[in-house]
Amino acid sequence: MKTEILKINDKSIEKAKKILLSGGIVGMPTETVYGLAALGTDGEAVKKIYEVKGRPSDNPLIAHVHKDFPIEELVFVNNDYAFELKKLFTPGPLTMVFESKGKVCKEAVCGGDTLALRIPSHEGCQRLLKAVNAPIVAPSANLSKHTSPVTAEHVRRDLDGKIPLILDGGKCTGGIESTVLDVTGKIPRILRAGLITREMIVKAVGSCEIAEHKEGDRVRSPGVKYRHYRPNCETALADSAEEAEALYLQCVKDGKKPYIMCDGENAEKLKGYNVLNLGNTGEEIASNLYDKLLEGERVADEIIAISFNREDGVYLGIMNRLRKSCG
Ligand code: AMP
Ligand code: MG
Repeated sequence: MKTEILKINDKSIEKAKKILLSGGIVGMPTETVYGLAALGTDGEAVKKIYEVKGRPSDNPLIAHVHKDFPIEELVFVNNDYAFELKKLFTPGPLTMVFESKGKVCKEAVCGGDTLALRIPSHEGCQRLLKAVNAPIVAPSANLSKHTSPVTAEHVRRDLDGKIPLILDGGKCTGGIESTVLDVTGKIPRILRAGLITREMIVKAVGSCEIAEHKEGDRVRSPGVKYRHYRPNCETALADSAEEAEALYLQCVKDGKKPYIMCDGENAEKLKGYNVLNLGNTGEEIASNLYDKLLEGERVADEIIAISFNREDGVYLGIMNRLRKSCG
């Protein structure tokens, strides 16, 4: 199969819509990462997503809808705070898990009774969702376990020849996946950290828990138990610039080509070494993280990431990704 990459316009959206409505799957941009999309009501199409990615069959998908879609057609909204969060943070990188009404196929929710729902803010994605006017389910558009794609070219590298079309909507601005929030209980509970932070949710609705994924627990968000986001090269996670420097020099001694991935401040300290500079603010770092990992895997034998050693705000999501990709 030939994989076309088309810039988003009326014609390419019409083409993507046609493919989706006839049971195919396509790559689509969102503001977080690129997704691999299928019509959420088409079980056979959804199976293709799992096949193409090599995704574990017990890891459910997020359903995406446009901003005017009546979500009560798909889910029961049992708590008023969910309406408030929807008003404040959508369209945007917040996925809320509701009790499902069963309209999205069982293949997408892995037979479960909940549905994860998201309203992306990416303009091109909104146009596609509006054109289809039905839930589109999509995980990230990478091979399972690999780093999530943030450009159409990243998607092509993983899925070339396996899907007919990738809609090109430019580089994702968010850079890490959406926050996944369980809104079925009295208090909202973060299942996966992301750009909508615990602090933002507490400020908006008064409280927010963070789900702990302990050994032996019933895992509420199956995806969090898997290895994830790994670049195709060796990796290491250092606690400090000094430790990274020592690892770097050892690599060089061993005849390998290392790169250090770090924030702007450490990049300045480590001038003269091969560096992947993530930038300075939390938002900037999140936005660059996967792009730099995917750049790194092409030039480095080993990426040595320096830990941020903090978990406040967006750093909770960043450190979660960093530990899984480089730890
Ligand atoms: P991905 O699309 O690969 O970024 O992964 C989506 C994330 O959402 C995974 O961690 C899934 O386990 C999680 N997820 C999807 N649907 C549900 C659901 N119904 N309940 C809990 N977590 C979910
Ligand atoms: Mg993924």
